[in-house]
Amino acid sequence: MEKKKNGVRVILFPLPLQGCINPMLQLANILHSQGFSITVIHTRFNGPKASNHPLFTFLEIPDGLSESQINDEPTSNVMSLLAQINVNAESPFRECLQKLLLEESEKVSCLVDDCGWLFTQSVAESLNLPRLVLSTFKATFLNAYPILPRIRTKGYLPVSDSEAEDSVLEFPPLLKRDLPRIFGEDGEKLDPFLDTIVDTTMRSSGLIFMSCQELEKDSLTLSNEIFKVPVFAIGPFHSYFSASSSSLFRQDETCIHWLDNQEDKSVIYVSLGSVVNITESEFLEIAWGLSNSKQPFLWVVRPGLVLGAEWIELLTEELVRSLEKKGKIVKWSPQQEVLAHRAVGGFLTHNGWNSTLESICEGVPMICLPGGWDQMLNARFVSDVWRVGIHLEGKIERKEIEKAVRMLMVESEGEKIRGRMNVLKDEVGRSVKDGGSSFRSIAALTNHILSL
Ligand code: UDP
Repeated sequence: MEKKKNGVRVILFPLPLQGCINPMLQLANILHSQGFSITVIHTRFNGPKASNHPLFTFLEIPDGLSESQINDEPTSNVMSLLAQINVNAESPFRECLQKLLLEESEKVSCLVDDCGWLFTQSVAESLNLPRLVLSTFKATFLNAYPILPRIRTKGYLPVSDSEAEDSVLEFPPLLKRDLPRIFGEDGEKLDPFLDTIVDTTMRSSGLIFMSCQELEKDSLTLSNEIFKVPVFAIGPFHSYFSASSSSLFRQDETCIHWLDNQEDKSVIYVSLGSVVNITESEFLEIAWGLSNSKQPFLWVVRPGLVLGAEWIELLTEELVRSLEKKGKIVKWSPQQEVLAHRAVGGFLTHNGWNSTLESICEGVPMICLPGGWDQMLNARFVSDVWRVGIHLEGKIERKEIEKAVRMLMVESEGEKIRGRMNVLKDEVGRSVKDGGSSFRSIAALTNHILSL
């Protein structure tokens, strides 16, 4: 879909998290392929590697974080770092953008940034620059922002055992048992952030989703009604461009050679993404569950994943010996390549939206172990709506993990799930092909940006 340069520049500003940087740089590639020139403004914290993207201009701004904050904080504190950056980065961002607008020779049509930036709409307005919002969440989740404070105070919490299976009427297909992990311990602190995000999105010039009509048609229509701005669902971004070049961690390629030696659809891939943390006992339960399942597995244990541990030193020698018979453990994988490998037959995932989409696009059924926030909703869609996965319902217990792995990988129920996943994969695949809904949305987005 490569087009001639159109002499118009777009400025992008990713939120500094792996799950937000990947889609923003993929979007940069999509827009570049439509003829736009690209400038990426980024914080020092989790800054992307400019040399991996020679076609774009990169500008770094200070974020006010100290070295020890960046290096020593567990990823579970990443939300507090983001809150600080949202304050610290405002002035440097304004100065950088102002300078760029003065010096740039090409027409700068708009800013595209993450819905999680709280100050960018005001800065863009003060400089008369239109702003488009990228949501790295499913549209169904962003649509709930205006009502989340009401759901929190409605009296659902705390959730009793007898009510855990009840639906949240205002927010289907969520169950009441999902709510505590959305709101955490001090959910009221979220309210001002949600208000700001709703307000700034409504003042924006458009909303871009990495999603498609085939996955959430009604929600996309609703997004347009709620936020009252043009909505562009341009499909799973990695269908157009891989996320590998924006990886913040070194991807261990040896796992691909290991997969080459495994049988078709025999391997369960396990990864909980870049932010989720688990406790020591949860880590050991997953290890025993995988070992007892007797299925080959590829397990990403990100350094820092296990609270209080460097990496896998908590595994006993006996457990390591047992795990090594069937599996491979790596610190970080080339995930898209792994999911596309013929040997991978299942994905035990935290259901981040990127991971969920990547799994759907490769037709890999899932075992859902969501950690919090939008992952709770993504997991419900996977298990209860699309029925392309098994939900662990938060039970990180060796027996449950062993049972789910065997059910998905070797039992007849797994075959049915795989069949439904293949249908969903084909539907989503068609949307990004010439003439498909996402493909047409890219053309609409291009025209919209040119008209600003
Ligand atoms: N990822 C990867 N290697 C890994 C684990 C994850 O490249 O070992 C990538 C994955 O392909 C996805 C991103 O990291 O693009 C994680 O985003 P997601 O939204 O799934 O979860 P988050 O990390 O934001 O919780």
